[in-house]
Amino acid sequence: MKIGFDLDGIFIDGPPIIPKGIIEWLYRGSQNHDPKYRFPTTKFEQTIRKWSHSPIFRPEISRNVEFIKQLSKDKGLKIYLISSRYKFLENETMIILKKYGLENSFSKIFLNAKNEQPHLFKKNVLSNLKLDIFVEDDLIILKFLKNYYPKTTLLWYNPKRGIRLSEGIFHIKDLKDIYSSIK
Ligand SMILES: [Mg+2]
Repeated sequence: MKIGFDLDGIFIDGPPIIPKGIIEWLYRGSQNHDPKYRFPTTKFEQTIRKWSHSPIFRPEISRNVEFIKQLSKDKGLKIYLISSRYKFLENETMIILKKYGLENSFSKIFLNAKNEQPHLFKKNVLSNLKLDIFVEDDLIILKFLKNYYPKTTLLWYNPKRGIRLSEGIFHIKDLKDIYSSIK
């Protein structure tokens, strides 16, 4: 069984004092239903983005970090980390994975080295992996992926709210709920 996990929002939280809606607006612009994210083109913007991805602003989601460390001991599973963070954040990403003890929890870590749009990057990685389950906190990305991978169970992780979802996407409040998808 192969399971893929997104990184931000699953194992790493956003900056604690900034509401998620504002972060999404900054990254995605006002068109809320478009999967496209803005790529920060200037050095200045990239520096700010790097700084905002340092561990002080990105606390671990400890229950999920513990969960994945346990899950990685299951020899019957192949577990992948699929993060669409852009190339210029690669150092920050590896530093934070080490800091939270996550660097050895995955069979393979996929990072967005070619700076593809996040939804397209994930679509490409999933096409090679043929995952049984993919866990993601970005519902817009899941809705996009659903059209391409009907055999992959798409799990939307959101510990707070559940809303009616389109067919083929399932809401989980806790990563333990993955077990009901593992047969
Ligand atoms: Mg995410």
